Amino acid sequence: GREMRLRVVLRVRPLTCTEMQRGDRQVVHSLGNGTVHVSAARHNATFGFSTVFDAGASQEAVFEGSGMRQLAELATDGFSCTVFAFGQTGSGKTYTLMGPLTQSESQPAAPGLLGLMQRSFACLLEQSQSHSSDLALSASYLEIYNEQVRDLLSPGPPCALPLRWSKTRGFYVENQLSVDFESLEDIANLLLQALSVPPTGSQRRRTSAHALNRHSSRSHALLTIHVRRRTVSTHPAPGGRGEHHPSTWVPQPSTCPRKQGTLCFVDLAGSERVKETGSSGELCTEANNINRSLLALGHCISLLAKPRGKRTHIPYRDSKLTRLLSHSLGGSGITLMVACISPSSRCLSETLSTLHYASRARRVTTRP
Ligand code: ADP
Ligand code: MG
Repeated sequence: GREMRLRVVLRVRPLTCTEMQRGDRQVVHSLGNGTVHVSAARHNATFGFSTVFDAGASQEAVFEGSGMRQLAELATDGFSCTVFAFGQTGSGKTYTLMGPLTQSESQPAAPGLLGLMQRSFACLLEQSQSHSSDLALSASYLEIYNEQVRDLLSPGPPCALPLRWSKTRGFYVENQLSVDFESLEDIANLLLQALSVPPTGSQRRRTSAHALNRHSSRSHALLTIHVRRRTVSTHPAPGGRGEHHPSTWVPQPSTCPRKQGTLCFVDLAGSERVKETGSSGELCTEANNINRSLLALGHCISLLAKPRGKRTHIPYRDSKLTRLLSHSLGGSGITLMVACISPSSRCLSETLSTLHYASRARRVTTRP
């Protein structure tokens, strides 16, 4: 029941080839000790985080240094854990969470490039497959697109699922599919199918990375791994077997609470859409809805960042996203935020806005 701060880490991706060829300047510099400095014409500011990963940081370094491994372990202990990636489109959110899903037509991604998700799956699977473990893993995958919650695992065209609230469960999505998995291959295929990237060997492969990112910048995606005990443990009632009272040998539910943890990965839509005003109808609706939910999220974070005694009502109901994240932000979840930025001078204003947003999030506390 103790208060715990959100852990906020920053990842600065390397300049891309295009940015280098264009001659973009690097305006973000890591100073070590969890601080970064932004220096450009009229801006000079330093920001501090739990950890800063600069352009040279490997996917493994991010997994080990962000606290992600501990988060996965806490999920097996029954906690509700969430990691969310935030930042403008192209800042490295999907790369950080998933890495490239495939390498080429017929090859899966190089192991070194695997993202936080796959590394966490490996960690969970290792625990579930260890000798004495009775953990079972399943996954559900939702997206919020135009203020509709859709199930990415259900076959056929996307249909909207109702988001409800109950006293015991808080906000939850009704009728969402949950699929069991027992290997890295199972869950990788599940992701590929969900994102409509056909498994290896398909002709559509080449466009997949691009399509995937175009898609991910337009909706918020939430992948939840449910970690549950396969069986309810039993123990003999007093005077049980061996004491000549066989009739009293009845399985009793374990006195220790049943553990049911979750590990949720949230890939938020690109933050720059907040300002985008698409001319065509569809783009405009999309931008407005992303706008609405990211603003609602920002608003909730600002209010949650105040000391508990001074907090007013938190308007989680303002968007589907904040409803679904209410538990992770203000409830009993344990949350890691990975803020992603580009070091390029051209992204300066978005970068500053991400840094301010992430700094504010550092003051948010939950009670796991
Ligand atoms: P986002 O999901 O935030 O829109 P992506 O994760 O798709 O952004 O990243 C945009 C591009 O930058 C991709 O081509 C990706 O491969 C590349 N990229 C992002 N982060 C890194 C990194 N840390 N190292 C190398 N390339 C990266
Ligand atoms: Mg993305």
